[in-house]
Amino acid sequence: MESTLRRTWAEIDLDALEHNYRTLRERVGRDVKFLGVVKADAYGHGAVQVSRTLQELGADYLAVSSIDEAMELRDNGITMPILILGHTPREQVDRLIELGITQSVTCRAKALEYSAEASRLGGTLKVHIKVDTGMSRLGYLCEGRHFDTGVEGICDACRLPGLEAEGIFTHFAVSDEPDDDSADYTRRQFDLFRRVVDAVETRLGRRFALRHCANTGAVARWPETWLDMVRPGLLLYGCGEFAAELGLRPVMTLKTTISTIKVYDPDTTVSYGRLFRTERTTRMGVVPYGYADGLFRALSNRCAFMTADGPAPQRGRICMDMCMIDLTELPRVDVGDEVEIFGEHSSVNELAALAGTIPYELTCAVSKRVPRVYRRHGRVVERELMLRF
Ligand SMILES: *Cc1c(COP(=O)(O)O)cnc(C)c1O
Repeated sequence: MESTLRRTWAEIDLDALEHNYRTLRERVGRDVKFLGVVKADAYGHGAVQVSRTLQELGADYLAVSSIDEAMELRDNGITMPILILGHTPREQVDRLIELGITQSVTCRAKALEYSAEASRLGGTLKVHIKVDTGMSRLGYLCEGRHFDTGVEGICDACRLPGLEAEGIFTHFAVSDEPDDDSADYTRRQFDLFRRVVDAVETRLGRRFALRHCANTGAVARWPETWLDMVRPGLLLYGCGEFAAELGLRPVMTLKTTISTIKVYDPDTTVSYGRLFRTERTTRMGVVPYGYADGLFRALSNRCAFMTADGPAPQRGRICMDMCMIDLTELPRVDVGDEVEIFGEHSSVNELAALAGTIPYELTCAVSKRVPRVYRRHGRVVERELMLRF
């Protein structure tokens, strides 16, 4: 493990996570609860370690996408409330109740199924009702002519035996987009959500304990949507366009080292497909970071990685296990030196923009063969490699 760590690794700075959490917590104020989204292995950062830190810091809730992700957290000592954003198969409802996991209810069929299972088991399943206000993915459709049937369906779900409707929520489609049209859409989504919640609460004669809708874009730009609880993911990890303006720090820094350096004559072609041809005597380094580690091959010959002396352009096709970087202008950079793919000194946002995608996809793509090294209180506290030994 020690030797593999010197090859390529992802440093996960849990102190930066703490800083981000505290900054966001202060931003939303004491009266608003905080749910940290840790689905997809906490966007590639390690769900167990991130959740442990959030639990220790006093966050109120976590969200994951599936029961498997929720069980991983319970198995690793996470006792705080966890919301599953996706569906759970009927056969596993007993586990939800046993482990005290909250389930989203997104349609009548699933509501009936969860209720029947919970009743059969003689237990109570805590649920949050999902409202579709314009994301057009999961949730009770409530827009326009669907308003009355949507509200009625939600009320029915709340009255079903075996279910305890603790919360109600919706999800924004464009809360992070700056244009007027998107702002208008977000406003309409939020307005519809409020009207649905009001109508349901009036009919039921009770209030939901947790009404929530603010994802990263809304935490950054839409304070009026914070309601009882905010639900950011990306911001916690210090990525994306809003992170810097809110003073947040990147949690993941992806590092590799230079395996070997060779000097090529002019007119030498490099790597598969001979995409790059040297124009001069070129000092080329090989780094053990390729598309099997999570670096998109589409970035070939178009990106640069940060060395101690500045950025080194990546040359030629990115291979499965490695790629080449041009060190001609960086004569002091040597074999064994560290190179940053993205993180503290070179933003994941820029690499994502180059790849025509969003930072979420890049941190999620860091594959399981890349060891994670966790730092807390300024020192390394854990090293983890997710392979089967
Ligand atoms: C992923 C997700 C979030 C978090 O989104 P960010 O943009 O990372 O803040 C919030 N709510 C739901 C329903 C999600 O699926």
